[in-house]
Amino acid sequence: MLIRKYILLSVMVISFPVCSQDIEHSKKLAQEVPIADVHRHVQRWVSPELLKKQMEKSNVKWSGAVGAPFGPYDTMSYLDLLKNQYIPTIGQVELGSIFDQYGAAGLIDMNVKTYKELLANAEHLFANGKVKGFGELILNNKISNPNVSFRRKVKINSAPIEAMFTIADQHKGFVQIHSEDDPDSVDELKSLSTKFKNTSIILSHCMFSSDVNRIKNLLESYSNMFCEMSARSRSHFMNPDSERAKLWVVYGENFVKEEWVQLIEEFPTRFMVGTDTYNPKIDFEKNIKEIREGLLSALQPATIELVAYKNAVRVMRLE
Ligand SMILES: [Zn+2]
Repeated sequence: MLIRKYILLSVMVISFPVCSQDIEHSKKLAQEVPIADVHRHVQRWVSPELLKKQMEKSNVKWSGAVGAPFGPYDTMSYLDLLKNQYIPTIGQVELGSIFDQYGAAGLIDMNVKTYKELLANAEHLFANGKVKGFGELILNNKISNPNVSFRRKVKINSAPIEAMFTIADQHKGFVQIHSEDDPDSVDELKSLSTKFKNTSIILSHCMFSSDVNRIKNLLESYSNMFCEMSARSRSHFMNPDSERAKLWVVYGENFVKEEWVQLIEEFPTRFMVGTDTYNPKIDFEKNIKEIREGLLSALQPATIELVAYKNAVRVMRLE
């Protein structure tokens, strides 16, 4: 009985927008609102021209905020073509090559030559406005990558990562980090958040967390942390009905988990969206459809605009 009462109460609390007019307004706005895709890997199978075409077709106004792990390793041609609409970052390709060469131990070793070069380059690129942040830094994907040889879990607040934060901090940049939500990784992120208060930390895939309370506590206490919701949609999973996918999936074309709607409405300024096209099988258009029809349309109009693009524009200083 108590459980039924609780369910009834929760449904009442989370069922907004309340009137049908609002629902229609949200649905319409979710279709039309421009999107900032803050987890868009440009890869050798997506040329700058193709990216531009895809963005225009889907009304995605900004794209990027992660690197091109399978090349082209230099993404300057995307920036040249798309100008302010491309969100250039540094670090993903370099960390990928350090991991290939030295394994997980290399990722926390300040003496690795690639790190020295990366830090020197970053200083220069930030100063010239050619990058806006670091990322995607993959530091704990011990179960969240389908490819076993690509998995690793390392200390997140290691010396080289702190060195990147120091640079980001000086230039009002952001750092996008892919980490699962293990308690030790979360503690390391908290430490970075406290030490570098001016740096925004974008948590890729919202840490693949299925524990909304863990995310709620984090957002409540650490005002420079943000969640981006890429790879949390049904189409991202080879087997969306597996136990793991059921835990990780938050939305699809025609559904969204209510507990996440509630969390996003509680922290409307802290969420962003992305498509994470990390391999050519990821269907960009389908991901955008899932974002618009599943996720955004369930939110209140003001929240839709924030999550779709306004949070990214503010945090990543886009124009
Ligand atoms: Zn990614």
